[in-house]
Amino acid sequence: MALHHSVFRDETKLDINYVPNRLPHREGQLRLLKEFFSFALQSPEKMAQRVMIAGDVGTGKTALSQRFGTDITHEALTRGVRLRYVHVNCREYRGSLFLILQHVISVFHPNFPKRGYSAEELLDMLIQVLDEENTHTILSLDEFDSLVEKEGSEAVYKLTRLQEMRQNKAQRLSFINILRSPEMLGHLDASTRSTLQSNVINLQKYSRCELSDILSDRIPVAFNPFAVPSETVELVSELAFSESGNARFGIELLWRAGKYADAENLQALTPECVRKAASSIIPAVRKDELPTLVLHEKLFLLAIARLFVQSQKAVISLAEAERAYSVVCEEFSVSPNSHTQLWKYLKDFSKLGITETEVAGTGSRGRSTGISLPRISAEELERELRTLLDQESKKT
Ligand code: ADP
Ligand code: MG
Repeated sequence: MALHHSVFRDETKLDINYVPNRLPHREGQLRLLKEFFSFALQSPEKMAQRVMIAGDVGTGKTALSQRFGTDITHEALTRGVRLRYVHVNCREYRGSLFLILQHVISVFHPNFPKRGYSAEELLDMLIQVLDEENTHTILSLDEFDSLVEKEGSEAVYKLTRLQEMRQNKAQRLSFINILRSPEMLGHLDASTRSTLQSNVINLQKYSRCELSDILSDRIPVAFNPFAVPSETVELVSELAFSESGNARFGIELLWRAGKYADAENLQALTPECVRKAASSIIPAVRKDELPTLVLHEKLFLLAIARLFVQSQKAVISLAEAERAYSVVCEEFSVSPNSHTQLWKYLKDFSKLGITETEVAGTGSRGRSTGISLPRISAEELERELRTLLDQESKKT
């Protein structure tokens, strides 16, 4: 076996369950969350809190809550305060209140019997357990949507108002409810809804620049030095941004692109690695569109694909693409179409999601048009187009 050097330094740092030390562009929200729970480090028995974190997939909800949980647990430990943070993914327990409660109790009593109790009894027992432990617990209910969906108002109400039922006793239970769409709380009755909607932290989708910062922060811990060129980071950010500002997608893409680089024994993640990784994740719908292109669209696209195969660049200029297109036309013995026509083709490619076009620079030479091929492997595209063009030339 040949000596193989991986681009990865530690790929577990790209794992979905890894919680990074820092959360770029969520610092403010982390501070706010700590602010909401500052009482828990001072007088945890006097108060209970409910916070809701809402946002789309990949906006950092889970990471934010976990980071907060680890930080506050550490802080409590150094101050000698009895405080626990328990994170439960409700979906893993099929949104069942019974299974969720059973799990939470088993965190404190690993040998807790699995049978013989109702959800109601488990609720009482949970408080009992926390009383015995003399501990305030922050229970983070992740994917809370599934609990609401499965159990509806009553269960949610009972769970979140548990504290209020016991006046003048030590406060034991605070909640962080994490959910994707606050609209789904519309299924609940008004009073349950109002108990949930007090402190809301809304996470917006990440911008392209924010995604680039997040990825750049992760790269040094996950990859070897120089394994991820900045061009590649930009391409991954662009893709994650167009897939709805989803950081999870960006990190997975980076990991897969690394796998392609390793498989081909490359020193670094080239843009082509990213395109291959992206086309393995994104459904290959775009390939189905290729046969519908007219002859010169195919020729022009073939020229673009070849340029990407040869150049290892993430972006090529329209001028380069036009020159490559003339060469392809010569090869197929047809006369090339005009600049205006190519410009129209390029617009169609964008609409189909094949290429992307950006107009940049206003220097002395005027604006230049950049073309990128973010989602499809250039090698694959070249192969597909060759096959289609060969078939067409056989027909004539
Ligand atoms: P959600 O729970 O909203 O779907 P996650 O918290 O699971 O999103 O985040 C998805 C991925 O992106 C995780 O790997 C997480 O570590 C990472 N991530 C999200 N936001 C950030 C951030 N601000 N900084 C660093 N990593 C982040
Ligand atoms: Mg999550």
